[in-house]
Amino acid sequence: MELNKLTIKQAYDGLKAGDFTSVELTKACLKQIKKRNPDLNAFISVFEDEALAEAKEADKKIKAGKQEMLTGIPFAVKDAICTADRRSTAAAKILDNYVPSYDATVIKKIREQGAVLIGKNNCDSFGHGASNENSMYGPVKNPHDLTRVAGGSSGGTAVAVADHMCIFGIAEDTGGSIRYPASFCGIVGLRPSYGRNSRFGIMPMASSLDTVGPMGKTVEDCALLQEIIAGHDPLDATTADVEVSKYTNNLKIKRLKNLKIGVPKEYFSLEGMDRETRDIVNSKIERLKDLKIDIVPVSLPMTKYAIAVYYIIVPCEDSSNLSRMDGIRYGVRKNSKDLYNTYATTRARGFPEEVKRRIMIGTYALSAGYYDAYYKKAQKVRTLIIQDFEKVFQKVDLLVTPTSPFPAFKIGEKVSNPLAMYLTDVFVGPAAVAGLPAISVPAGKTKAGLPVGLQIIGPRMGEEKIFQLAKLVS
Ligand code: GLN
Repeated sequence: MELNKLTIKQAYDGLKAGDFTSVELTKACLKQIKKRNPDLNAFISVFEDEALAEAKEADKKIKAGKQEMLTGIPFAVKDAICTADRRSTAAAKILDNYVPSYDATVIKKIREQGAVLIGKNNCDSFGHGASNENSMYGPVKNPHDLTRVAGGSSGGTAVAVADHMCIFGIAEDTGGSIRYPASFCGIVGLRPSYGRNSRFGIMPMASSLDTVGPMGKTVEDCALLQEIIAGHDPLDATTADVEVSKYTNNLKIKRLKNLKIGVPKEYFSLEGMDRETRDIVNSKIERLKDLKIDIVPVSLPMTKYAIAVYYIIVPCEDSSNLSRMDGIRYGVRKNSKDLYNTYATTRARGFPEEVKRRIMIGTYALSAGYYDAYYKKAQKVRTLIIQDFEKVFQKVDLLVTPTSPFPAFKIGEKVSNPLAMYLTDVFVGPAAVAGLPAISVPAGKTKAGLPVGLQIIGPRMGEEKIFQLAKLVS
């Protein structure tokens, strides 16, 4: 098997046994990037020399008997996450030259083990999008069909993992950005509970929804990564001081008979939903029934408001968070005749349309006279959505749904219709608004060969159970 196709576990074992070196493994990934990235556009930056130097260091560490789980393993990171001394653009020209001086906490934890940072991934600018067409560095293509989108906003990371340009990836999910591209590309991606993983060093989009999580080739790999990156961080006051489970030791469900899985009808009865997608997810649910797992039909009536709530709250927080991007403190400045015009020209050139749209919607919804009608109302409905889930989780352990109503769509199909693009988040948005953990795992492929993802949503801090069911269905 080609080395770049290995999982983390296989790479760890091979490095440990001395079957190959980290330099060889890293070269295999770099070779794949050279071959495929010109078509797929999954990377904005590739750090060839630095990665090979890191791999050499890792090989020394392994030889000295100091190998840790991720030592010497090449990984890729969404470009909206800060990496020390490595360019981090968030796929926006305003940060084209930005090189952070520090690693995000989750990246620090991974690099401290000696993992090899191979490159930074293309994504929708600042995470705004569902198709990766809102990048200022061009769209990412789906490796299963180059005429289709990779999904967004973490499309580059999903493609890098799916196409074996790296062994694993780290990305950000505010309203689906890990799960959605994972489902379009046929890989596994976890959005953790809000407060489970540190957001320190993640370029903020909507601070009350942003999360950072793993993208991998298998459920085991994601469980293993989550075990390493989760936990309290003094640099992020919203992280919970709750012990991190040994997810990898507990991947097997002890008593299948005691498990209750909810199937929310709102996620299967959507108008315009693709029939093949529904059938593929339903056949997985049938298999769970065969295992004597209790499948319970449930209803989440507030689901229909989630997208409206999301697209008020997120732009409001966005408009505030993005005000730091002014060309003075970070990134590319376009000087003009006075300070106001310097800000205006810098931001006009440095942000794509979607970012500007969100800043305008958010500023409007937060302005005097509109705040109560939009922002405050959205926050109240958000509470109802949270309560909707809380009620259901008194009856069932987990929820199973499709990740997306349809497989990857054509590049250009929805890009000129922002509302149609927003509506694609219909199944990934609700858990995000409620701060809940959710995973997307491959469920099968359509006749045309496009991957379909199955989503498992759990109660807050319910990652362990999510991984268990994910393992069982995959
Ligand atoms: N599609 C969502 C949006 O555009 C996803 C964002 C995300 O999770 N970063 O807001």
